[in-house]
Amino acid sequence: HKYVYDFAEGNKDLKDLLGGKGANLAEMTNLGLPVPPGFTITTEACKAYLATGSEPTGLAEQIAAHLEALEREMGRRLGDPQDPLLVSVRSGAKFSMPGMMETVLNVGLNDRSVVGLSAQAGGNDRFAWDSYRRLIQMFGKTVCDVPGEEFEHALDDVKRAKGTTNDLDLDADDLRGLVDAYKKIFSKHTGREFPQEPREQLDLAIRAVFESWNAERAVIYRRQERIPADLGTAVNVVAMVFGNLGADSGTGVAFTRDPASGAQGIYGDYLANAQGEDVVAGIRNTVPLQELERIDKKSYDELLDYMARLEGHYKDLCDIEFTIERGKLWMLQTRVGKRTAAAAFVIAGQLVDEGLIDLDEALHRVNGAQLAQLMFPRFKLDHEFQPVAKGIGASPGAAVGKVVFTSARAVELAAEGESVILVRRETNPDDLNGMIAAKGILTSRGGKTSHAAVVARGMGKTCVSGADELDINIPQRKFTVAGQTVTEGDVVSIDGTTGKVYLGEVPVMPSEVVQYFEGTLDPEQAGDALVQAVHRIMTHADARRRLAVRTNADTGADAARARRFGAQGIGLCRTEHMFLGDRRELVERLILAGTDAEREDALAALLPLQREDFIEIFREMDGLPVTVRLIDPPLHEFLPPLEQLAVNVAVAQERGEDVAKEEALLAAVRRMHEENPMLGLRGVRLGLVIPGLFAMQVRAIAEAAVAVTRSGGSACPEIMVPLVGAVQELETVRAEAEKIIAEVVGDSGVEVLIGTMIEVPRAALTAGQIAEAAQFFSFGTNDLTQMGWGFSRDDVEGAFFWRYLELGIFGISPFESIDREGVGRLVRIAAEEGRAARPGLKLGVCGEHGGDPESVHFFHEVGLDYVSCSPFRVPVARLEAGRAAI
Ligand code: ADP
Ligand code: MG
Ligand code: MG
Repeated sequence: HKYVYDFAEGNKDLKDLLGGKGANLAEMTNLGLPVPPGFTITTEACKAYLATGSEPTGLAEQIAAHLEALEREMGRRLGDPQDPLLVSVRSGAKFSMPGMMETVLNVGLNDRSVVGLSAQAGGNDRFAWDSYRRLIQMFGKTVCDVPGEEFEHALDDVKRAKGTTNDLDLDADDLRGLVDAYKKIFSKHTGREFPQEPREQLDLAIRAVFESWNAERAVIYRRQERIPADLGTAVNVVAMVFGNLGADSGTGVAFTRDPASGAQGIYGDYLANAQGEDVVAGIRNTVPLQELERIDKKSYDELLDYMARLEGHYKDLCDIEFTIERGKLWMLQTRVGKRTAAAAFVIAGQLVDEGLIDLDEALHRVNGAQLAQLMFPRFKLDHEFQPVAKGIGASPGAAVGKVVFTSARAVELAAEGESVILVRRETNPDDLNGMIAAKGILTSRGGKTSHAAVVARGMGKTCVSGADELDINIPQRKFTVAGQTVTEGDVVSIDGTTGKVYLGEVPVMPSEVVQYFEGTLDPEQAGDALVQAVHRIMTHADARRRLAVRTNADTGADAARARRFGAQGIGLCRTEHMFLGDRRELVERLILAGTDAEREDALAALLPLQREDFIEIFREMDGLPVTVRLIDPPLHEFLPPLEQLAVNVAVAQERGEDVAKEEALLAAVRRMHEENPMLGLRGVRLGLVIPGLFAMQVRAIAEAAVAVTRSGGSACPEIMVPLVGAVQELETVRAEAEKIIAEVVGDSGVEVLIGTMIEVPRAALTAGQIAEAAQFFSFGTNDLTQMGWGFSRDDVEGAFFWRYLELGIFGISPFESIDREGVGRLVRIAAEEGRAARPGLKLGVCGEHGGDPESVHFFHEVGLDYVSCSPFRVPVARLEAGRAAI
């Protein structure tokens, strides 16, 4: 079994096996870019190791063979005392997980080879001891779990003794002393000496990288990003090149376009005389990449050339890690770079203009989650709000919340329902939980490529980084800025687009993209690259998609907004909302009716009100179908709660008031009490039990449709019967409804369809029979999930879903994204058997899943005609329906 690949043997399409980093190192090698030689140990070796706890047979020999070849190529032996080869041992999974797993640099250094390294560097002792102390630090922390702070403290001690805060001020002697201190820390924590044998260092580091796949923060990150837990990581062993050799050396990161806005140009950070991690960690402040032109023009020009080549090759934004060793440029990593939602749209549009990709590919490269992000509100600024600081707009959005200074506190307050802004000097992987819990992240150090920035962008969280006017004191839980002190719990507002920080709560307004959808911003005139790109890609999605997109709306206003957002009708108009407010009293009368006459009276009073509601909605949806669901919830939901009513009655009686009416109400509430109301008297059952209720609603719908049509409009009502489980239920309702419709509609030309929701599992399983009586199906996937899993939607999410997610029983709540195998299977069966019984049967879905990107793809595959979702999700569903079709 082949577990080890030389860089020359791989390519960018082998990410499953070589991980993203390894596959792209191979690709760059084969493109002829200057990549230090090395090899990749496959994810399969990692999986085998994790499964058994030991290296698979043959791995050690293959590593030895590739190491030998590397040594031959470099003309140096690993850890050789005179002239050592050093290597880095780098994690690299299929999907990028920035900073989540481990990397160890300078492997091969020991007490003897450190001298050889100095000689190799022309007698540069400082460099050699700096490299050695870094190895002990990284190795100790990563491989042997030595607490990282101990090393940091020792480093701080040395700096303090020297009277400096800059690590560049430390000389060779200081660093040699630090190596001694580090070794003591190492043996104190591990009970052994720092390993001097180079091959042992290498093997232990490889093992540690394998194991870092299951590090807690990596597990959390994967869950958040929905990366499968069983992929494993590859390990890259790469010959070291040194950015810490002096002022003519350095290290940096570069993007081929701005990952925040998508704008073309040169973006990145550079740090002279530094090694790898220093840039990302934000330890010292970096300089903008443009300055490299002044520092080292030859390397700069070369880098720009490679950047252009990589972009042309990958046909996408690339991000790059590079190191300059004494004026020689080395490429250490590239990948198709993460970007903000706005940049994703802008870049896709630009690449189409540049002829690198077509519109289908552009559509493929953006997604509904990104579009949803672009619909977040923005700050509405006036003279009242002056920023107190300006950092780097690292991840866009407008976030307002209470300041917290620790991850733990962020999690605590968020659990209480507070919006919080996590404020840190810089973040590191231990802050991940706090970042997930926070509305926004604010740091005083680090650029666009700092940990905070990269992780926040990945999560779609607002982030301002490097706001260095902030003087942050974590232990005292406060920061000072512009002469003011902000303590935990104070409210701040941060703008992740401009990088500005405001004290207090800044009001928010709709984003440009929402203004575009609303029709108040003309894309042709906007002069705004983002709005133009969104317009273009949405237009293409609309041209491509087969699924229609409708909306869930109960009012004329919602219907009108959804229509502007592109809704092609209403898929779910809930009538129960029309029974609330001051109509409650009429509903009470209906419920309390002792005689037929009383009940008919109450219904007659409700009829004109319902009719008016429908007229308004039909007008707004002129010419488009409107699916109206007959009343669904149990009637007691319209009555006051039992306990409250009982207390009121008792109190009134005490006072000697007349309580006849309240007592009747109380009796009705008692009578109607159910142990499991969701499985009780609701939906079609209600219609069959309460005479005249559905009839009144059907009449109101038909009369409204006739009224709208007679006044020159066009109403297309579809009456939907909820909670049907057996065709007989539907037949009974339908027989009565058809009589009323025939009577009301007459020769007006109005056509009213009658169909049903498929939301009870039995309905899905007998869909062939039900289709005989239904002119359309609409899948109510909320109830179908509830009844399919036996999960009470109102109870289980808070109670135990976290545990299910933790255990991996499912990766995402089945109420959020449809469970394809189970509930989805019911949908599939019903769609197939329904259409077999009634060819051309119209099929749609209403319920939260209609606006969920993953679920939209599923509904496309199953062959539904439309999805229906809340007005704000309509653009998302349009986009995803387009993506599903390409
Ligand atoms: P991550 O995935 O967290 O970015 P990397 O494996 O890319 O981790 O390595 C961490 C840092 O070390 C990066 O800045 C990288 O450029 C640098 N680095 C890795 N290997 C080498 C090497 N062989 N020579 C010099 N620097 C290296
Ligand atoms: Mg890297
Ligand atoms: Mg339902």
